[in-house]
Amino acid sequence: MYKITLIPGDGIGPDLTRATVRVLEASGVEFDWEEVIGGEIALQKTGDVLPEETLESIKRNKIALKGPMTTPVGEGFRSVNVALRQILNLYVNLRPFKTIKGIPNTFFDNIDLVIVRENTEDLYSGIEHMIGDYAGESIKIITRPASERIVRYALEYAIQNKRRKVTAVHKANIIKCSDGLFLKVAREVAEEYPQMEFEDRIVDNMAMQLVQKPDLYDVVVAPNLYGDILSDLCAGLIGGLGIAPGANIGKDIATFEPVHGSAPKYADLNVANPTAMILSGVMMLRHLDEEEAAVRVDKALEKVIGEGKTVTRDLGGTAKTSEFAEAIIAAME
Ligand code: NAD
Repeated sequence: MYKITLIPGDGIGPDLTRATVRVLEASGVEFDWEEVIGGEIALQKTGDVLPEETLESIKRNKIALKGPMTTPVGEGFRSVNVALRQILNLYVNLRPFKTIKGIPNTFFDNIDLVIVRENTEDLYSGIEHMIGDYAGESIKIITRPASERIVRYALEYAIQNKRRKVTAVHKANIIKCSDGLFLKVAREVAEEYPQMEFEDRIVDNMAMQLVQKPDLYDVVVAPNLYGDILSDLCAGLIGGLGIAPGANIGKDIATFEPVHGSAPKYADLNVANPTAMILSGVMMLRHLDEEEAAVRVDKALEKVIGEGKTVTRDLGGTAKTSEFAEAIIAAME
């Protein structure tokens, strides 16, 4: 029995969380969910978007499954998600993008990319200020230790998962200090792993190449902002945000969450696609070394999407979130 912190989040989060919990529990693994709140709902209930109790629960259980959280618009609110990653030092944002047969609107039928995004610094450090109303200044910080540990993670992930190469993404030709340092450190670290092919690409060129020739790439490691943008591009390649999972990983804590946000317009309608959150749960199962259960969920999900009969609206169907989840459970072997 695994004790897991569960944060349903805002908007479509609670619908997706209910569906995901049902599917994960049907995989044969037992969970003891500790449900806590975060985001807009926490702000309404406690006056704090990230209550201490929520942080304490994650620190205690070391693993959390979370739905998307809305960042209230307005001054004074930094993204709850960004804050959570920084406070818990979850320095890796791991995002696999894999084609699932049967998903409409995909441009290629064999995408298999992994983005390893640095999660704690870059333009997301939150060090910014206005100079009157004339200018805004946001500081981009890239440090040697953070660059070293993310590139090392990407290379070790690539070796462990039998991937073929690692590509570091940067804009070092123009942004010579911060991106220049990232590239220099990436090359130094890569020399320690001669068994893994390593290369680098300038981010704008990378964006074009990912759209035209995604099969040229495999594991991509990037500073925070480029990783964020390229992740959505890759989600687009495999058919949209509704199917892209992710994990935030630190030294001894990991949180699992879909790449997408809280899509408030679909809140409580039971229509959003839970695939990204279910696949985030599959990443959690693998993190727990529950490979058999992970494969069971993966296969059932692929079967239901492949058949295309009981899928959500974004996949061209009419099924409710909960009906889609029940079809996955029924398809489990
Ligand atoms: P979003 O990802 O919530 O939604 C963009 C669009 O993508 C939606 O309108 C919808 O058409 C589609 N979509 C997203 N998820 C879907 C799903 N599961 N099923 C079907 N369609 C889906 O992005 P946004 O509108 O820019 O952000 C809304 C809120 O979410 C903001 O407050 C933002 O800060 C927050 N956000 C949170 C996270 C997170 O919790 N990790 C990530 C991104 C955005």
